[in-house]
Amino acid sequence: MRIYLSPPDVGDAERAALLGAFDSGWVAPAGPDLAAFEADIAELTGWEGAVALSSGTAALHLALLALGVEPGDDVFVSTFTFAATANAIRYCGANPVFIDSEPTSWNMSPVLLAEALSDARRRNRLPSAVLVVDLYGQCADYEPIVAECHELGIPVVADAAEALGATYKGRPAGTLGDIGVFSFNGNKIITTSGGGMLISPSPSVVDRARYLATQARQPAAHYEHSEVGYNYRLSNVLAALGRAQLARLPSFIERRRRTNAMYRELLAGTYKCEFMPVPSWSGWNGWLTCVTLGDGDTARRVHSGLLAAGIESRPLWKPMHLQPAFAEFACHVDGTSESLFEKGLCLPSGSALTDAEVCEVAEIVRSHVKHRVHP
Ligand SMILES: *Cc1c(COP(=O)(O)O)cnc(C)c1O
Repeated sequence: MRIYLSPPDVGDAERAALLGAFDSGWVAPAGPDLAAFEADIAELTGWEGAVALSSGTAALHLALLALGVEPGDDVFVSTFTFAATANAIRYCGANPVFIDSEPTSWNMSPVLLAEALSDARRRNRLPSAVLVVDLYGQCADYEPIVAECHELGIPVVADAAEALGATYKGRPAGTLGDIGVFSFNGNKIITTSGGGMLISPSPSVVDRARYLATQARQPAAHYEHSEVGYNYRLSNVLAALGRAQLARLPSFIERRRRTNAMYRELLAGTYKCEFMPVPSWSGWNGWLTCVTLGDGDTARRVHSGLLAAGIESRPLWKPMHLQPAFAEFACHVDGTSESLFEKGLCLPSGSALTDAEVCEVAEIVRSHVKHRVHP
């Protein structure tokens, strides 16, 4: 592969930060860089509580546990997402109920959620949490979602794994429900090679997550444990890498948005090629440029054309209600995410992508779309 979808963009600053942490002696899952990384994220989001963790998936798991999600509970969740979101629900022994997307943001439909909630109310089986995903760096339409949930006393978790630095009506991604989750996996907008963060304004949620992440160890010299915990903390060395990456977040966002603007210009007029819509309330972070190409055959042809040229692209997420691992669970769907999956493609969007590479990708996309005049 010559051009990847979203490779890590790391250099001298990250190298210096890593070596600095190494030389400080804090080669441990604790240390000054870990605390400082949490403080940096807290400052960025405006929420005081942040817990750095080994992955975004671990953060999702702890978010649900901190809310008291138990085996047999229902958790309503976006069906159009990466499997980690739904896996975290299963780690708790709870049952996901999948909610489809709306065409305007590609994220959870407030209308379908409202339908699912009134259905659940009729059956006297309300979910113990609603897990909303901010896909491809764009926030969901939280105002109606949170209003519906809070009216029923249901907490909202924001899976902002892909959306660090994005905003909704000017408010930071991650802070739009009761708990927020970020991922720093290698392909995300900033990376610690692997890592995640849980944020919340509630000290009890944050304390509970930190405690569960460190083997549920009670404050006693002999290590007292009254319940089962996890080993989910981020390493101090990787937190140093995270701090160096976070300092570059504004430039990463700017570059990825510019790549998107270039693709829009270069692909303008390409038959039935449409970009992920960005509603007026959305401050998209530019993570991945996504297009739909009219039909599945065209999307597959473009995907293999790019592959033949050594360029990575990827179909949009396959909805969870279509995944064999989750086939047994309930869903409220109207075909929106199925259609996006069928005809959609993510294009190379890394922050180190050059203008020449964007032009090359766009040219190959164009050449594999049948040239027909717009109707
Ligand atoms: C990447 C991702 C996760 C999981 O994050 P990891 O750090 O890889 O565990 C969860 N949800 C979504 C939507 C993601 O894209």
